[in-house]
Amino acid sequence: MNQTSLTSILFATAILLTACKPGDPTSTEKVAPKFGKPQVYVANYPLKYFAERIGGDSVEVKFPAPSDEDPVFWQPDDSAIAGFQSADIIFMNGANYSKWAEKVTLPQSKLVDTSAGFKAQYIGIKADATHSHGPGGEHSHSGTAFTTWIDFQQAIQQADAVAKALTKFNPDASKNFTALKAELEALDARLLAVGKRIANAPLVASHPVYHYFARRYALNVRSVLWEPEIVPDDKAMEELKSILSTHPAKWMIWEGDPAQDSVAKLEAIGVNSVTFDPCGNVPDGSDFVAVMKANVEAFEKAFP
Ligand SMILES: [Zn+2]
Repeated sequence: MNQTSLTSILFATAILLTACKPGDPTSTEKVAPKFGKPQVYVANYPLKYFAERIGGDSVEVKFPAPSDEDPVFWQPDDSAIAGFQSADIIFMNGANYSKWAEKVTLPQSKLVDTSAGFKAQYIGIKADATHSHGPGGEHSHSGTAFTTWIDFQQAIQQADAVAKALTKFNPDASKNFTALKAELEALDARLLAVGKRIANAPLVASHPVYHYFARRYALNVRSVLWEPEIVPDDKAMEELKSILSTHPAKWMIWEGDPAQDSVAKLEAIGVNSVTFDPCGNVPDGSDFVAVMKANVEAFEKAFP
């Protein structure tokens, strides 16, 4: 081998090594480097909470959805998508959550569908009218019901999937899961007791997100398409009254604390208000278990 060809081999090797540098050339600057803690990307806040509690300091949990959007209808930008694509683990909610993921290629080997264990128990929703809340544009809730985690037994199964995937990064994952599971079991038992006291009395929900909740706790729920911050107009009140004519509910379940005027309008027709926040996105100054405790307490107070 002459000097020239040896030089060209070395040169070619150098180019190959440069080209194989992690992060290059397709990723953007915002993508986390492949050193430091394992990067865990999550589809919603419940999974962020589970991953942080179970993974502890051993992992870095990333939930890039903005706090003012419902993560289920959120459309991530290129940088957020690149983050998911370069993650060490991606926790998805399953039940056709993350509408954006249908159009994006994610690394299958990193994906964990946290509700795969109860796929056979998914609830299908018949077609409903499209509507909008927040910046995500028009959407419909028809298809598969996706608010899986407010059936606390399903939440436990989702947390279990998180724990199994994080064990390789944190030896305490199983212990952390057991502690979380005990808290969710306690809330589950309290809600089962409330459900027994409600005894199938009709309820209305401000939005169609309570299917699994209603199934688990034996609640007889029909839904309108209202928002906590929007006071129902005459048309909305007529729609509710039409439901009440065959489903005489005395309580409406709200996703967030309703406007005072909404509460007053409902009281005028004999309907009380109670909040059960599904907590799909990061709560202000609180956390998942604290929000769920407050939800359960509100139900216990409403149905003593
Ligand atoms: Zn909606």
